[in-house]
Amino acid sequence: MSRDGTIAIIGAGIAGAAAAHRLHAAGRRVVVLDKGRGPGGRMATRRGPDSLRFDHGAQYFTARDPLFAAVVESWAARGVAAPWGGAGRHVGTPGMTAPVRDLLDGIDLRCGRAVDRLVRDGRDWRLADAEGAALADGAAFASVLLTCPSPQSLALLAGAGHDLPGLAEVRYAPCWTLMLAHDGPPAPDAVVREDRDPDATFAWVARDGSKPGREAGGTLVAHASPAWSRASLECAAEDVAEQLLAALRDLVPLGEVRHRAAHRWRYAAVERAVGEPCLFAPETGLGFAGDGCLGPRVEFAYLSGLALAERVLGETA
Ligand SMILES: Cc1cc2nc3c(=O)[nH]c(=O)nc-3n(C[C@H](O)[C@H](O)[C@H](O)COP(=O)(O)OP(=O)(O)OC[C@H]3O[C@@H](n4cnc5c(N)ncnc54)[C@H](O)[C@@H]3O)c2cc1C
Repeated sequence: MSRDGTIAIIGAGIAGAAAAHRLHAAGRRVVVLDKGRGPGGRMATRRGPDSLRFDHGAQYFTARDPLFAAVVESWAARGVAAPWGGAGRHVGTPGMTAPVRDLLDGIDLRCGRAVDRLVRDGRDWRLADAEGAALADGAAFASVLLTCPSPQSLALLAGAGHDLPGLAEVRYAPCWTLMLAHDGPPAPDAVVREDRDPDATFAWVARDGSKPGREAGGTLVAHASPAWSRASLECAAEDVAEQLLAALRDLVPLGEVRHRAAHRWRYAAVERAVGEPCLFAPETGLGFAGDGCLGPRVEFAYLSGLALAERVLGETA
């Protein structure tokens, strides 16, 4: 791997953004590709009708690691994040994608680009979509850093005849999310329910409108438990919304429901992680970072992305 080669980062979630930010700051050429319409990954905000917005992925982040705490402090000072709900919780402002957008500021980011194939070209890599069309204007990359969830990263690696030891061990729990707007009395608490009982229907219910920078109002986000989500994994979103709404009525006084929608996260929370900060193979320039390395938190995904960037810089110093 040469010091001058361009680095492709697949995935513009917090891990990909952290890696890109560090490499860019060190003077490396970086291109970030994401299949989504915008950056953020599971730090996501979904728009509904009538300007409704829901944080339907990660609800908040903590900052226990001093490195990440310093970054969060800088976000808070610049209005990119703010405390919410006590217990050291922070949220992005005005939405959960804001911290990721901040890290990617000034970086070559290409959204709406689903990478389907990694193609070896001498010592370089080229990227192609499902139709075989070249991505990133056919650029050659000295290194490709994967930050999509491990099943998606493994598929890309397998297509190129490669592997990263440990990656296949990662396991994720799914999560069905209900997004709801209603005209009833607002729930009294920001966090209406947090439940670790595996048999519960809901693992989490929160008043989305209570978050700083959001429009106050009767918007709720409810995450079904891993067990409930697994059992209903292949159900239609409309049916899931119906069932979760019925279950939610038993927990929260709801008025007239103006909007409801369900979203399925197939890979939501890491249940088994690699246990190392990142994976990298210097002989191929292929690497992996994300919550699959250290565990199911925004903070861990950030630290993993940063670790991968440091590893690449160390290998090409
Ligand atoms: C419902 C839910 C609730 C959560 N709650 C919390 C919480 O309260 N607190 C907390 O700390 N964490 C929470 N998490 C976990 C947290 O969101 C994740 O740990 C973290 O955001 C993972 O970041 P990442 O960069 O590793 O992956 P991701 O955010 O998943 O980013 C991966 C990116 O890769 C892209 N991608 C995938 N395949 C391709 C491809 N082939 N080509 C191009 N791009 C591709 C995706 O579009 C995505 O943007 C929650 C997650 C979910 C889903």
